[in-house]
Amino acid sequence: MGLFDRLKQGLQKTHENIFNKIDRLVNAKSEIDDEFLENLEEILLGSDVGITTAEKIINNLKSRVSEEKYERTEQLSSILRDELKKVFISGNGQVIEPFKITNKPHVIVVVGVNGVGKTTSIGKLAYNYKNAGYKVLIGAADTFRAAANEQLEMWVKRSGTEIIQLTQGSDPSAVVYKTIQSGIAKAYDVIIIDTAGRLHTKINLMEELSKIRRVIQKQLPDAPNEVLLVIDATTGQNGMVQAREFSSAIGVTGLILTKLDGTAKGGIVLKISSEMKIPVKYIGVGEQIDDLQVFDKESFVRALLED
Ligand code: GDP
Ligand code: MG
Repeated sequence: MGLFDRLKQGLQKTHENIFNKIDRLVNAKSEIDDEFLENLEEILLGSDVGITTAEKIINNLKSRVSEEKYERTEQLSSILRDELKKVFISGNGQVIEPFKITNKPHVIVVVGVNGVGKTTSIGKLAYNYKNAGYKVLIGAADTFRAAANEQLEMWVKRSGTEIIQLTQGSDPSAVVYKTIQSGIAKAYDVIIIDTAGRLHTKINLMEELSKIRRVIQKQLPDAPNEVLLVIDATTGQNGMVQAREFSSAIGVTGLILTKLDGTAKGGIVLKISSEMKIPVKYIGVGEQIDDLQVFDKESFVRALLED
């Protein structure tokens, strides 16, 4: 299956939620009046795009309708797709060349609360970098969960990469130190650090993350090159709060939105992408190793709205 089909499949639930409802609305009404726009706003809100984004879309539509004299709802699908794209792209989009690094080692720290999909996303990232021809090392700094090392080892096997780990309960920073040291000594291209969403000790998770950052910078002053915050799209509303907290602790550079295949409210990506200062870099559309996609606004909107 091609990437786009896979994306479409992953967004199926949201697609049905938005597309079918809009379709029904368009069929039920023949002109774009206030009632129509109200119903449309409800549909958008129901898919979790957020009030600011929904209002922006509705207002843009309104002025287009009055300026360009669209009155028939049949024309709406294409206008709407247009407007959604605009709202997306006016956000902080960042075109990235996927899985290409400019300096070695390229250090990525992956953070986020428990269960959002950090470890799974790391497996997928490692797989992609490995396929791009890089030598990848993973640091298992989630020392909280008993099964964390095993789970990560499984992804390391699947992706054909390597891992540095200490026993459960070790100081996460010790794992990070050792990983960076080994990464430099053995000339790895990409180093990915897994972190915990919770800790054994009373020490605040955010303090621990700041410490991890300092430990990395002791050996590599310009690292980490990326700090990716993982947000579970099925509980996406909390993501905004999480982003603020993690940002102040370790400086988040990009977001990974996971489990889009499991939600009909994938509009959250639109909301986060247009309301936050941090770009959505990757989206998770399934549990398999090749189910991580580089977030591309255009294909995302197309996958959502095309029949
Ligand atoms: P962590 O605690 O943040 O490291 O989360 P894990 O990586 O252990 O993932 C928690 C659960 O979410 C696992 O059952 C994963 O298989 C699942 N998961 C992660 N990403 C995705 C995704 O994109 N789609 C689906 N359906 N499940 C996912
Ligand atoms: Mg984990």
